[in-house]
Amino acid sequence: MSWEAVIGLEVHVRLATASKLFSGAASSYGAPPNATACAVDMGLPGVLPVPNREAIAMAIRFGLALGARIDRQSVFARKHYFYPDLPKGYQISQYEQPIVADGVLLIEGDQGERPITVVRAHLEEDAGKSLHEGLGGASGVDLNRAGTPLLEVVSGPEMHSAAEAGHYLRKLHTLVRWLGICDGNMQEGSFRCDANVSVRRVGATVLGTRSEIKNLNSFRFVEKAIAYEIERQIAVLESGGRVEQETRLFDPARGETRRMRGKEEAMDYRYFPDPDLLPVVIDEAWIEAIRETMPELPDARRARLEASYGLPRAQAALLTSDKDLADYFEAVLAVQPAVPPALAANWVTGEVLALHRGQGAPLVAPARLATLLARLEQGVISRLAAKEILEVLWQQCQQGEPPEDCDTLIDRLGLRQVRDDAVLHELVEAIITANPQQVAEYRQGKDRLLGYFVGQAMKRSAGRGDPKRLGELFAARLAAAPAGE
Ligand code: ADP
Ligand code: MG
Repeated sequence: MSWEAVIGLEVHVRLATASKLFSGAASSYGAPPNATACAVDMGLPGVLPVPNREAIAMAIRFGLALGARIDRQSVFARKHYFYPDLPKGYQISQYEQPIVADGVLLIEGDQGERPITVVRAHLEEDAGKSLHEGLGGASGVDLNRAGTPLLEVVSGPEMHSAAEAGHYLRKLHTLVRWLGICDGNMQEGSFRCDANVSVRRVGATVLGTRSEIKNLNSFRFVEKAIAYEIERQIAVLESGGRVEQETRLFDPARGETRRMRGKEEAMDYRYFPDPDLLPVVIDEAWIEAIRETMPELPDARRARLEASYGLPRAQAALLTSDKDLADYFEAVLAVQPAVPPALAANWVTGEVLALHRGQGAPLVAPARLATLLARLEQGVISRLAAKEILEVLWQQCQQGEPPEDCDTLIDRLGLRQVRDDAVLHELVEAIITANPQQVAEYRQGKDRLLGYFVGQAMKRSAGRGDPKRLGELFAARLAAAPAGE
């Protein structure tokens, strides 16, 4: 009998507010230890929390994007546990009444597109961090992160493979950045995931006992940790053992998960409504005001790119994996409506992304790319030349230099395509003279050598020959009787 894996994800999304969830201290990353921790964040006596309106607005924005229920009244609760980085002895979170419930995120499942339930999304404050390095054997506590606003997004136990979990996470990651509520920086912990994994016999209706893998901060780690955990649990069950409900950690170096602690039950946290905070009451007018500022969402935009430009689905999905990228693509078309959308899409998802990838650097201005592609389309430059020019423009962009005008650049680099037949004829003759062996073989029927001749001519002309015209000229010239060569 075979096994079915069941996966539910809890994602902590750090909201991109200027200040913290309950204090006015800056909610930024990377300041010297405790530089952005105020009396509220430190849990000093005599202070009171004040909710951050912007964080609540971001939660509403998220809920609207998922078609979720926005609860008109939600409650902040105290969740108690003891840890050195939690000075109050409790974390302010939401428990019985979260702000967002019952939303849906569409994922590319193992068997096609499929809705995954977002059971709830609630607001909570982050804890601080313990520091164990560079303190001469002592430990320190940095409370900069304490009180930064998190939206904890909880899925239903509805995914069935590491790949499906990966899709869900990527979609969620795209969405929160798209909405402008999170910077999505996984290295800095702005988007971290706990994965709950269990297995059961195929056909069983009851869920198996789960383990929870904590604090995964890369897509790859999530997928590896889940795949490992599924195999581990199956092995435990097949050898007659029982899976324990526990919290585990993923060790990226070994590609394994290992036990951290037994899992707490909700009652261990002694939740109760925080008496220092009133219930959050949201009125219709506020929700409507936020609804009016909602952008076209990634799925809708992908569908539109497919329908209005005839792009393949995978390419439209790639373009809409990031709002800036989708905007960029459409900006290129807006500048030069004569550029075929397929050409622009190929260049944006190909050359432009390849240059940009990993650098996080600004893209070449859309107007420049648009002109470049227009010249390519008009046959003024070759594909090779266009690549070269794009690289120059990109370098200028990285160095913060004013980018050169595309046409000026074409002439400065001498890349204007040669389409003067007289010049091309000379080129053809030169290549034929230099390659008697290949010419003989071509004439004996080795047709594919035509590409070789064109390649040689392109090389000799430093990429400036028009390859299409060169092909025609070679074919005509070599079909003719050998003229005294
Ligand atoms: P907790 O209060 O311990 O965080 P929840 O009931 O809120 O537990 O569930 C947390 C996450 O675990 C959710 O994403 C849920 O889908 C998932 N989950 C719950 N039970 C299972 C299970 N048996 N197998 C896999 N995932 C599960
Ligand atoms: Mg949990």
